[in-house]
Amino acid sequence: MITYMFRKASRGFSPGLRRFSDLKVTEHVPESPASPRLTEQASLYVHWPYCLRRCTYCNFNKYIPKENNEDIMAKCLQRETETLLQLSQVSCITSVFFGGGTPSLAHPSTIAKILETVSKQVNLSDEVEVTLEVNPTPVGMSKLKDYHHAGVNRFSIGVQSLQAKDLKSLGRDHNSLDALQTLAEARKLCPGGVSVDIMFGRPNQTTELWSRELSEMLRVCDDHVSLYQLTLERGTQLFKQVQSGQVTMPTEEITAEMYQCARTTLQQHGFQQYEVSNFAKNNSESRHNLSYWTGRQYIGVGPGAHGRFVPLGEGGVAREARTQTLEPDVWIREVRQRGHGTRRRIQLGHLELLEEVLVMGMRMTMGISHKHWELFSPELSLLEIFGGSLVVQELLQRGQLILDDRGLRCSWEGLALLDSMLPVLLVELERSFSQKLAAN
Ligand code: SF4
Repeated sequence: MITYMFRKASRGFSPGLRRFSDLKVTEHVPESPASPRLTEQASLYVHWPYCLRRCTYCNFNKYIPKENNEDIMAKCLQRETETLLQLSQVSCITSVFFGGGTPSLAHPSTIAKILETVSKQVNLSDEVEVTLEVNPTPVGMSKLKDYHHAGVNRFSIGVQSLQAKDLKSLGRDHNSLDALQTLAEARKLCPGGVSVDIMFGRPNQTTELWSRELSEMLRVCDDHVSLYQLTLERGTQLFKQVQSGQVTMPTEEITAEMYQCARTTLQQHGFQQYEVSNFAKNNSESRHNLSYWTGRQYIGVGPGAHGRFVPLGEGGVAREARTQTLEPDVWIREVRQRGHGTRRRIQLGHLELLEEVLVMGMRMTMGISHKHWELFSPELSLLEIFGGSLVVQELLQRGQLILDDRGLRCSWEGLALLDSMLPVLLVELERSFSQKLAAN
């Protein structure tokens, strides 16, 4: 179930300048997906593709650099940012996320240059959330202050575990002391603006060990926690170790138990769950990731980045799904030749857009309000789609799903089963959509 659910949102998604608790955009007058409010704002994701070494479980788009080409990479990221902003109808960037790879390997001046490029072209207010993923190595820590000066106001720290043995076997290039020091330094610079990534479902981990480790970690965490289940990906070193019997992974039942245990523990420590794998207190939700989950536009820059925005011109009113070229050297060549490394552009049909809004929106504990749905689907309401469905009725009766005057959302139990409910919801959406089309 969980492979998809616990993926990092930041790698491809983005919304408002407001905190989660202020997200009243859904209370406004409905707009069509092509309306100015939805097309003029976007968030920006910038991908730094390099890592110092490969973690044993990782299949992200990352490369070990053969030489130091930071200067070229910085120039190309600036150039592609410029091009894609010009190609979009965006006049305001509402959040920026530097992810990777290991973006804390980039020089702080590179981060400053990219932010400067954005602010020269569009509105980028000082209030905008600017997040940088940091690997908690001494090198990363030494640059935190300079990143902060460059404009970063939120750090997302890949702690993963505080167990020395586990960090080693996962191939991480930090130890638990590095993690604790980086966390303390980041909290000094951005109090309330530090997120910690924690991984569960690690080899030989039990629920008891996980529960103890999580409580220990929550004592030093700031106001935001992202949980990730370690998933076994083909082609990784970990996959081979498991295949050969060197390493044993916890069963699906155990990882499901660990997830529920984490939700309860986080709640006991004052964290509110606001998304499948994200927890916050004191209004410290990730505004960038919320923009993905609320179906806002986002521009993806850098090798392998993804984007969703309505392009300017060509009579375009429909959103495009864009994917940038994966391999950094090829991407650099393309950016130098034509200003961007877009490898694939697919125009999203209306049904495809609604599918994305549904899949993303259901990840949030607040789900999808009627007014939010109307922004994208003024002609077909949530009640029309799901209200008369027998299979949906069953999910409602089992208490896994809630459909009421607020909208559609998962119950506490249902959120853990989201992946098994989504296919049902998608079938109902498709069926209603086709019936509506046939009737018109
Ligand atoms: S640091 Fe992150 S992106 Fe790099 S290899 Fe490790 S998990 Fe993958």
